[in-house]
Amino acid sequence: MKYSYVSHLYCPKCGNTFDTKKKHQLCTCGSPLLVNYDLESIKENLKPETLKNREASLWRYHEMLPVEDKKM
Ligand SMILES: [Zn+2]
Repeated sequence: MKYSYVSHLYCPKCGNTFDTKKKHQLCTCGSPLLVNYDLESIKENLKPETLKNREASLWRYHEMLPVEDKKM
């Protein structure tokens, strides 16, 4: 199971895509970047029971965060 289901960042204005490994805030065209999730994988792997058993913190939903681990 992957830690993050964020697949990439993308620009809604010009369609540029960016790797989530680097910390991008803005596209080269100046537009804020949006996060694209791997929704198919989330549906297959993320079950409500799994979330229920996690600590009630932001990291409960780490699959929805654009990070690969807690250190970032
Ligand atoms: Zn752009």
